Amino acid sequence: MTKISSAIYWISIYLAIVFAPLFVLLLGPVPPGSGFWWDFSMALGFTAIAMMGVQFILTARFRRVVTPFGIDIVYFFHRYLGVMALTFIVVHYLIIRINRAEVLGALNPLQAPWYMTLGRLAFLLFATIIITSLWRKRLKIHYDEWRMLHIGLSTMGFILALGHIEGVSYYIDAPVKHALWISYIIFWLLLIVYVRLVKPWQMHNRPYRVVEVQQECNNCCTLVLEPIHHKGINFNPGQFAWLTLRASPFHIKEHPFSISSSAAQQGKVAFTIKALGDFTRTIKDTQVGETAYLDGPYGVFSTDCYPAAPGFVFIAGGIGAAPIMSMLRTMADRHEQRPLLFIYANDSWDNVIFKEELDTLKTRLNLNLVHVLKEPAPGWNGESGFVTPELLQKVLLKEAQEYEYFLCGPKPMSNAVQQGLHNLKVPLGRVHFELFDMV
Ligand SMILES: Cc1cc2nc3c(=O)[nH]c(=O)nc-3n(C[C@H](O)[C@H](O)[C@H](O)COP(=O)(O)OP(=O)(O)OC[C@H]3O[C@@H](n4cnc5c(N)ncnc54)[C@H](O)[C@@H]3O)c2cc1C
Repeated sequence: MTKISSAIYWISIYLAIVFAPLFVLLLGPVPPGSGFWWDFSMALGFTAIAMMGVQFILTARFRRVVTPFGIDIVYFFHRYLGVMALTFIVVHYLIIRINRAEVLGALNPLQAPWYMTLGRLAFLLFATIIITSLWRKRLKIHYDEWRMLHIGLSTMGFILALGHIEGVSYYIDAPVKHALWISYIIFWLLLIVYVRLVKPWQMHNRPYRVVEVQQECNNCCTLVLEPIHHKGINFNPGQFAWLTLRASPFHIKEHPFSISSSAAQQGKVAFTIKALGDFTRTIKDTQVGETAYLDGPYGVFSTDCYPAAPGFVFIAGGIGAAPIMSMLRTMADRHEQRPLLFIYANDSWDNVIFKEELDTLKTRLNLNLVHVLKEPAPGWNGESGFVTPELLQKVLLKEAQEYEYFLCGPKPMSNAVQQGLHNLKVPLGRVHFELFDMV
């Protein structure tokens, strides 16, 4: 299956799962006295709960589901589908409030029917999830705490919402429909069990040992991991994996990192990590022999996705070089002959990670390396400043329009490079990004 047909396939499955309850529950006789607005409100409610359920699939990182899109796109949709589902719930409620306020019962949980209270609680939890997700950084919620909150609230909210529907029992009281509804609920509950218990258990049974800890410049550190009694992951150069260190996979304290080692040497995997926050600052203290767990590989940021490309251009800033190194190392191991250009931006020469190895790679590959330094020392005769559209125009050859572009760096750099490539008439479909931020 091509990437596009595979994407269409998964989108169709998504729509089928989301609309399945509607078709099943609207089949046969519907309860009397419904009316358009009432039915529409119920349809929104059922669609919203199905969408909330699919959110668990989207974040379960099923490789076949995420591969055609790329995991960052899947997370992007996860976020906006959550907002859409919450909007449906609000409209579901507003329609009833306007048309049949009497069925809502009292607000006081002591007087209200239990299933109405469940519905209200579920709404509060979903609203909290959306607010804390959209504005996590502004609300200064630490990522790990946010993630635990997100998982806890979404699981609880979903179960409460199922309870609400079961209690209201509207549309699902006929035995066959009720049986179908129960099967649907069981499907979702099994999915939650898979995501939260089975998957961590599988990771737990495939541990890795830290076999090297290399201090790099610019507050970076490379960890090399070796699988313990299993074959390890089979990755494409440029892909990434979620790393768990000093915690069990059940704690869900994992962080995504690009694999920086060669895909031609499967088995051991290396990650080059920059100390930027609470977790990454502890990487330098990792001891050889420590146990680690990996979930991966993921991502479509890989030269292997474009076997027919006549050449490749890589543009990275600082630690953004990690996935590029995996691609360059792999190509060197595979005796790649195609022309390669690497534009590598850093603050200063002292902060250029991998500089010695890049010089060696130049002798093994048809590689043109352009260092761009923001603050060069006196005497530097290479490129200086930022990667600008003008710099791209200067260093890119005419035939580079046909190449595939891999870009990994801070947002301002990505924006400038996109603009520059657009000016040079490089088709957007040839420009591939990896942003080191998902939320
Ligand atoms: C696809 C991808 C590949 C990456 N590859 C590399 C790499 O090769 N080398 C490298 O140094 N960094 C890489 N990163 C960035 C790295 O994941 C974050 O720097 C790290 O998770 C920050 O954690 P912290 O606790 O140290 O920092 P914090 O201060 O806690 O977090 C800083 C920011 O990083 C993000 N972040 C934190 N924890 C996570 C998490 N568990 N999952 C997703 N995002 C999180 C959040 O946006 C947060 O606001 C990559 C990120 C992504 C998404």
